[in-house]
Amino acid sequence: MRIWVLASGSSGNAAVVEAGGTCVLLDCGISCRQIVTRMAGFGLDAGRIDAVLLTHEHDDHVKGLEVFLRRHPVPVLATAGTLRGMTAPPAAIEPLVAGREVRVGALTVLPVPTSHDACEPVGFVLEGDGHRAGFVTDTGVVTELVAERLAGCRTLLLECNHDRDMLRVGPYPWPLKQRIASRTGHLSNEQSRGALERLVHSGLEAVVGMHLSQTNNDPALVERELGVVLAGSAVRLAVASQHRALEVGTGPGPNAG
Ligand SMILES: [Zn+2]
Ligand SMILES: [Zn+2]
Repeated sequence: MRIWVLASGSSGNAAVVEAGGTCVLLDCGISCRQIVTRMAGFGLDAGRIDAVLLTHEHDDHVKGLEVFLRRHPVPVLATAGTLRGMTAPPAAIEPLVAGREVRVGALTVLPVPTSHDACEPVGFVLEGDGHRAGFVTDTGVVTELVAERLAGCRTLLLECNHDRDMLRVGPYPWPLKQRIASRTGHLSNEQSRGALERLVHSGLEAVVGMHLSQTNNDPALVERELGVVLAGSAVRLAVASQHRALEVGTGPGPNAG
């Protein structure tokens, strides 16, 4: 399995996962042009995308979808709630139900419910090529149920939206601060560390900090927080960015064995 995070953060999200010749786009919250350009940067052709998977209907996850589908008419997989929440829902859709596995070519896709102020948001556990990856962003909490579903993932892409102190003293208006920190908001670095403590196992290979706030977080803080859990292990740790695409190394880390 190969994973590329094309963009991650509150102004736009998209990632590509490939396994066994099947290629999916996870969220489409940057422009079609950016998707094409950023994929090309890794030698990938956007024409290889077989399907688009949506986590939820917020703009930073869907705003490039309409144009992308015009150029690359592929099926879209999303929950009924996500489709209801979209102003222009796509035509070729396959409904997703949290907890119910679906097959997309060589990939098995399990949508897991997230806790976010959207209609019916989900994260994903993806399996293919004997590799399992968990992808959870835009959630105020990692519930026991989601943690159970993420158990055994060799790659974890986990939201690290904000540093609690930076959010508290930062410039956002109070209602927005409350929304972000709520159970249906976004994960703080500290919460993400707590989730990682529960999820770390001997087969874990890579962890990626996702969906960082540009105002209320700093990649160095994410590295420090998650690094505490991974200290002394061969697990690769990376932090995804809004502006720079990232290839997530899968397979054993450089210090393994
Ligand atoms: Zn988002
Ligand atoms: Zn959202």
